[in-house]
Parts: sequence; C-alpha cells; structure tokens
Amino acid sequence: MTTAALWALRATAGGILATGVAVGVMSINPPVQPAHPIKMSVPVVVAGRGVDTVAAPALSPVPPPPTAAAPTTAHPAMPKPARKPPPPKVAAAPTVAPAVTWQSTFAALSARLPGTWIVQDRGAWGATDLNTGTVYIAPRTPLSKLSSVMYHESVHVLQGRVFGGRSGADAGLATYGGIEAVADCGARMLGATWTNYVQHCSAAQNHAASAILRGVKP
Ligand SMILES: [Zn+2]
Repeated sequence: MTTAALWALRATAGGILATGVAVGVMSINPPVQPAHPIKMSVPVVVAGRGVDTVAAPALSPVPPPPTAAAPTTAHPAMPKPARKPPPPKVAAAPTVAPAVTWQSTFAALSARLPGTWIVQDRGAWGATDLNTGTVYIAPRTPLSKLSSVMYHESVHVLQGRVFGGRSGADAGLATYGGIEAVADCGARMLGATWTNYVQHCSAAQNHAASAILRGVKP
C-alpha cells in the first residue's frame, strides 16, 4: 500500500493526472513511461460518453440495479456505461387531456349531425341550404355558441329532408312559427344552450320539432 502510494505520488509529480483508482495500475508499471497513462485516461473519456448514453434510453430495456449506478452524470466509474440507462425523466409529464377547441367541437358535431358541413362565412354564424343539406358555419362563431348553432342548423337539414326542400318546409311549418322557431326548439332538444329566435317553445312547437327530429312531418 505504501509503495503504491509512492508511485501515485511520483506520477502526480511527473505531471500525470492520476487518481486513487489508478494506483494499482501504476504499481505494476513504473511511471517512467508516460505512454501508460492512456489507460488512466480511458475512464475520463468514457465518462464523457456516459453522459450521452444517459440521453438515449433506448439502448437497453433492462434498468440497472439501483445500487450499482450512482445517477450522477459527472463520471461513471465503470468502463462500460452503456448498460446503465437511467429511466427517462421527461416522458411522464404530458398527461393533460386535450383541450376543447373550436375545431375539435366542429369536427365532433359535424361527424354525427346530419348535413354536409363547411366552415365558411355566409353572413351569419350558421346558414343552411335546405334544398341540398349543406351547412355553412362561420369561423367567427363564438366557441361558446358553436354547438348551439350547429344543433339549430342540423334541424334545418332535417326540415329540408322531411318537406323536400326549403319551400315545402316554409309551408309545412308556418303554423308552428316557421322554420327558424322550430329549428330553435329542435336545437334545444338536442342540447343547445343558446337560441336566437325562440327562448320558450310552445307545446305545438315542441311537437313539430320532435317530429322533425324523428324525420317525419308534424
Ligand atoms: Zn335558422
């Protein structure tokens, strides 16, 4: 032990950066040859590579035993740092549910409501061609009212189907307050929280709207 310590001291005095770990090597080979410290420099180089291995956890699926690896990224003492991938640190964060957006609301409702849905401003938040079943939703429609508007327009689509177009719907629903009132009442039945034309539907209007939603004339 004392001789090894002496070799270590000599090596340090000779300008070689020696650590306590490398004392055994130095005791075997006298420090006269400066070429041997290559072995001593190996852990230093590996230490730098070991840091890169930390950033790539895909190398080995088996985590090392927790006792072997001190998770300091400064320098691993083992010459093979490839088998010590620490668990990924950042993968557990994004568990937040996706936020409800205008686009997601439009996509979800247009997928299940009758009609051909197009995002386009035709002068109103919603506009429906009862003859073709095409619905235009203006992108400026507030998100807070988007679903209510879409429910209303979907009733227009059904009105056009039941009565064979716009003129037939106008005539057939005139006694119930017209297509707009009935569309509002139907929208309320579908879950609308906001309507533009009617705030309280009569029993007759609810009867008409219910029939339209079932696809029949009232
Ligand atoms: Zn309308």
